[in-house]
Amino acid sequence: MREPDVPQAHSTAALTTAPPALRRGACPSLDEPMQTGDGLLARLRIPGDHLTPRRLQAIAETAARYGNGQLEITARGNLQARGLTHQTAPRFAEAIETIVPIERGLVVETPPLAGIDPLERADPRPLASAIRARSVAGLGPKVTVIVDGGGQIDLVALGADIRFSAISPDHWQLSVANTPVGSVATASAAAAAEAILTLIAAHGEAARGRDLPPEVLRQAVAAHLTGTASPSPRPATSAIGEFTLDQGFAAGIALPFGSIDSDSLIALARSALVLGITDLRLAPHHALLALAADPAMLAAWIEAAANLGFITAPTDPRGAVSACIGSEGCASGHLAARSLAAGLSEHHRDLLDGSITLHVSGCAKGCAHPRAAALTLVGAEDNCALVLNGLAGDMPLAEIASARMESALTRLTRQRLPGETTAACLTRLGASTIAGLFRQE
Ligand code: SF4
Repeated sequence: MREPDVPQAHSTAALTTAPPALRRGACPSLDEPMQTGDGLLARLRIPGDHLTPRRLQAIAETAARYGNGQLEITARGNLQARGLTHQTAPRFAEAIETIVPIERGLVVETPPLAGIDPLERADPRPLASAIRARSVAGLGPKVTVIVDGGGQIDLVALGADIRFSAISPDHWQLSVANTPVGSVATASAAAAAEAILTLIAAHGEAARGRDLPPEVLRQAVAAHLTGTASPSPRPATSAIGEFTLDQGFAAGIALPFGSIDSDSLIALARSALVLGITDLRLAPHHALLALAADPAMLAAWIEAAANLGFITAPTDPRGAVSACIGSEGCASGHLAARSLAAGLSEHHRDLLDGSITLHVSGCAKGCAHPRAAALTLVGAEDNCALVLNGLAGDMPLAEIASARMESALTRLTRQRLPGETTAACLTRLGASTIAGLFRQE
């Protein structure tokens, strides 16, 4: 599956007469939703990640009408609707296009506060637009460019085929497959991106930045490089919290386990409307930002979000946990992953101290967290498997009955020394001791 070389809208007629392409492991989109265990999953690429409360409400109502009402904001800040069917997916797509414009073509991501953030080193939007304008044919749909101005909510934690990280308004660090290549001037950055994208395309539709031989890559961009400078490091950022902007303020909340039911999202959008908030932004790490001139409006919105069950504090242990719907909504699930995750978040706050990520997955596919996590609990035929520092599909360290998971985590928590983080504790214990604790040897 690939998206058109030149971004173009699919006609309504095409959507209503042709079933969407369904390919496991493909990149889901509105035009080509992906088959999952709970039906079809459609990803909505919202230009600039900007939504009004009315649009968010309409999208949630449409997701409830045509899908199972479960909505997600992904780790990259994309909105997704779940539980569509072959019959409803085209109608969903048609309805969404009447609510909000949908972006197609090369994925070029910028931070959600780009251009209005007083702490960013450079406004990434002009460079992002220039890269989007240089259409390169033959790229796969997963190829991603990040242009990060380095503000209060950066995109450092997200992977990218090509990344421009602002050093200053005039210079960017260029990285390919998360490996620094050198620095480039703003004036030649889009040309450097085009040269790399052309190389990726030449390696075939499945190619990514990581597939480029280093010497070929360096030769392709040599004329654009100005040195080896890199941005000065900054502490990791969270989108949950309050932010001061060039004009006005922003406040961020997150969806518990990246997912929420449509009723709660509709209620959240309505509360923004009632408060007079007009600007919402999808943000990385399953977050949603509201922007307003008056911080009191944002405080009231945060309170409404907390009452609806959203994550409103960076210390909420649910923020360290990823979980899919599992057996409560997915035919492939062997575990009620989200319910188990909710219980573990409540009962194991000490374990979830922010130093580790816990992933609870209904099966080995690991939809909710397609990256390594410190601890991953995976539903299997008869048991629950534990994977240490890996993906849901990796070799388990131990297997126990899911009913014994709570007590196994309690035994693990008791191993922590005073003042020790969970990450340090896991490192100190090592794999064989952790396996023994889980098996209660
Ligand atoms: S990881 Fe979860 S959502 Fe994905 S297929 Fe397995 S059970 Fe279903």
